[in-house]
Amino acid sequence: MRILLIEDDEGIAETLSIALTAENMTVDHAVSGEEGLEMINLYKYQLVALDLGLPDMEGFSLLENLRAAKKNVSVLVISARADIEIRLACLDAGADDYLVKPFEMNEVIARARALVRRANGHSSSLLEFGGLTLDMSTYEVRVADRLVDLTNKEYKILEILCLRGGGIVTKGHFLDHLYNGMDEPEIKIIDVFVCNLRKKIKGSGINDPIIETLWGRGYRIHPAVAASLLSVEPQEPLDPLPEMKVKTA
Ligand code: CA
Repeated sequence: MRILLIEDDEGIAETLSIALTAENMTVDHAVSGEEGLEMINLYKYQLVALDLGLPDMEGFSLLENLRAAKKNVSVLVISARADIEIRLACLDAGADDYLVKPFEMNEVIARARALVRRANGHSSSLLEFGGLTLDMSTYEVRVADRLVDLTNKEYKILEILCLRGGGIVTKGHFLDHLYNGMDEPEIKIIDVFVCNLRKKIKGSGINDPIIETLWGRGYRIHPAVAASLLSVEPQEPLDPLPEMKVKTA
């Protein structure tokens, strides 16, 4: 999951960035509205966490700008402004959720993950496919209750594939998400990760192919199991908006 933070307060941005990165998310940071818009045009984000008081423009204008340009990225507004007028105005202008500063880090993380899941058509953090269960809240993959011992990167590859449904994911897309453009290794590393991932899945007792290779194009969840990815029963509906309940999870 790749997130863009648009936040001019370096302290808040750093705290958020560290916490979200520890949760397996890839985080970019823009300190102004203009920089944020540039990055949104350059990269594909699953979520934009947007501050309203930016040095060069109102976050609200940036939001309107995004929606006018038909950018369909999820937007989580994080602002010190708690009045209902601005919260409603943001939601009306196309924000997907609104959090008031000071925030609980756990709530930011839970809401960020919920927004990305919902944007990808999943309302539950639990995905079941091909005999595997992938839990996006604990980053665990199980086969019949037995944990499959995956590295961070292997888990992330499987999650990215799942969030695409049965869609193709290019190796470049994996690299972007796994390394955030920093110290990127050669693209062949993705083949190594996928190879190890397949071995571990097979070792856990799953014999049917889960990940399909499309030569020269990338990888995808095998069509035979991909259909089940979109049919998981919702287990944890989002809080109603705009009433902001405090989550402790
Ligand atoms: Ca600010």
